[in-house]
Amino acid sequence: EQPELDLKNYIREIPDFPKPGILFYDISTLIRNADAWQIATARLTRAIAPWQPDLLAGIESRGFLTAAPVAMRLGCGFIMLRKPGKLPGKTISLQYGLEYGQDELHIQEDAVKPGQRVVVLDDLLATGGTLAASIRLLQKVGAEVVGTSVLVELDGLGGRDRLDVPLHSLLTYP
Ligand code: 5GP
Repeated sequence: EQPELDLKNYIREIPDFPKPGILFYDISTLIRNADAWQIATARLTRAIAPWQPDLLAGIESRGFLTAAPVAMRLGCGFIMLRKPGKLPGKTISLQYGLEYGQDELHIQEDAVKPGQRVVVLDDLLATGGTLAASIRLLQKVGAEVVGTSVLVELDGLGGRDRLDVPLHSLLTYP
């Protein structure tokens, strides 16, 4: 499984996106490379397996790309945390603050059976607001959130400290 392969070589850094002064870590260049995506998925799977989840949850939309292939490998179900207006049926929602303004995530109210062990994944952790809200939303519908995992952790924004469950990250940037 090519332990020497440095996945950072497949993440493209794009300055001034989505607005001036922001350096955006673009994972498109990782997942469009078959080997890099395989290896990233394998490494995430190895890190998440010991948590023995029943379900993996992905955060729309790049979290789907990290979570779904890992769920397939682990033999877990997969559930979606989505922006408003996307999920059919009854949903439970949670609003959370962004740097500017508010955002909202929804989950189907019956997505999790009480006490099921859930690991939640996203592509990247910055301030931690998105993952922290996702954890609370999953807890609201009865999940036991046993861990979180991201491809990329931006250290230095304090995101990790905002989470009250263990965080695994594949790659860390200052
Ligand atoms: P946070 O809520 O931790 O501040 O921001 C993380 C969320 O914003 C994640 O859902 C992530 O997809 C998105 N995000 C913020 N910055 C970046 C970035 O540089 N690259 C990517 N791929 N996503 C980002």
